[in-house]
Amino acid sequence: MKKRIALLGIYHETNTFIATPTTLGDFRSGYWLAGEGILQEYAGAHHEISGIIEAIGTCGDMELVPVLYTMATPGGIIVKEAYETMVYEMMRMLDEVLPVDGCIVVPHGAGVAEGYPDMDGHWLGLLREKLGAHIPVTGTLDPHANVSPAMAAATDALVAYATNPHTDQRATGRKAALLMIDTLRGKIRPVQQLVQLPLAISIEQQYTDRSPCKELYAFAEQVKTENSLLSLSVLLGFPYADVPEMGTAFLLVADGAHTNAAEALRSYIRERKTDFNGQKQNIETVIPLLKDMPAPVLLLDMGDNVGGGAPGNSTLLLEAMEKAGLGPGFICIHDPAAVEVCRRFSTGSRFALTTGHYNTEATLLQLADGRFVETTPKHGGFVNYDMGPVAVIKTHAGNTVMFTTRRTPPYSLRQMTAFNLGPADFAWVAAKGVNAPIAAYAGVCPSIVQVDTPGVTGADMTLFNYRCRRRPMFPFEENI
Ligand SMILES: [Zn+2]
Repeated sequence: MKKRIALLGIYHETNTFIATPTTLGDFRSGYWLAGEGILQEYAGAHHEISGIIEAIGTCGDMELVPVLYTMATPGGIIVKEAYETMVYEMMRMLDEVLPVDGCIVVPHGAGVAEGYPDMDGHWLGLLREKLGAHIPVTGTLDPHANVSPAMAAATDALVAYATNPHTDQRATGRKAALLMIDTLRGKIRPVQQLVQLPLAISIEQQYTDRSPCKELYAFAEQVKTENSLLSLSVLLGFPYADVPEMGTAFLLVADGAHTNAAEALRSYIRERKTDFNGQKQNIETVIPLLKDMPAPVLLLDMGDNVGGGAPGNSTLLLEAMEKAGLGPGFICIHDPAAVEVCRRFSTGSRFALTTGHYNTEATLLQLADGRFVETTPKHGGFVNYDMGPVAVIKTHAGNTVMFTTRRTPPYSLRQMTAFNLGPADFAWVAAKGVNAPIAAYAGVCPSIVQVDTPGVTGADMTLFNYRCRRRPMFPFEENI
């Protein structure tokens, strides 16, 4: 008889500094995939679930049993009842397919719900309780996970994506599945060790193709090889969650017994702590530099990072660029009310438009249904995007703004090209992110600038008021 492997996950990156909570509706209208629906969405795509489907699918002696996968766009703290409903539903659906021989989980790893600050530790703990100690649990993590001791204790082997922007999600899913396959075949006995560090890597320093992360990942790979580890994940961490597990960590998976690799990893980070904090450039510093850069320039709006939970509606960059007379540019802004106003007009109409604190005389270029499909490996591994109704306008100063009804992270160039907008037509393109949009835009934007704009995802984490984080921790405290 085939060994049965359950697949399930609640996936959320929670920014606890945002007042607007994340609701059950956000999950239901985000991703709420049950049973075969999971396979339909992700088979053959570039998501971690795609890699899991692929790896288990090639084993004649194993069978994947999809249960429930739910995900909402990063945002504020998850409403208590919403989280409890999700867990209840997931466990009920798991009950229907038991018994299983193993379980593969796909959390993000930075989820926070009201009353459940370590949300992932909580549901993984319940899962372990239900399955018992003898059923192996492997899975994937986003490297922006804030991994808690409870998460590590409840699972046998978790593997994080090794790239940021996250373009290796499928490969990571495959790794988690192979660890399950080898465990069930009795070839390995994974033993997991969490090494939390007294440091949080600043968000703009988390680009894995560039120093200091490039060298950090190379070093981690070396430690993994030297210690014959089954897996060594770098958890960059998600700074915008005021929880004790916030920060950078390593997750080691050894075969049979712990190794002594932790200390080398700790010292590596300690010795380079200032590199991981880096230097930040605000709008005023960036503007004079832009005229000498090859166009189009990708401007990364770090303070309004949709993938970090921000509202995606700041006009600060647009206003600054217009004040400096730099253009033509393109920016996407989440503003359902502005879409509604635009829908009252026909293409070519000119009218007064306000979004946030910004006013302009707009010319309507386009109204559209904001759906598009991404088929290549890009951050997030999403296939079907739905921005809701969108309106594209030209501002009085000649810049192009796309207003969306739904908050949509800028992970795909199709967000422009599916609407006949070519990045080459612009001098600058603004994207509300830090590193993730680079996977979409690097090929078309020869210059990339991370701008330290104010907002709920501001790059300088020392400006945030933490109550629950670990102490001491760099860059908040100097001595660690
Ligand atoms: Zn991430």
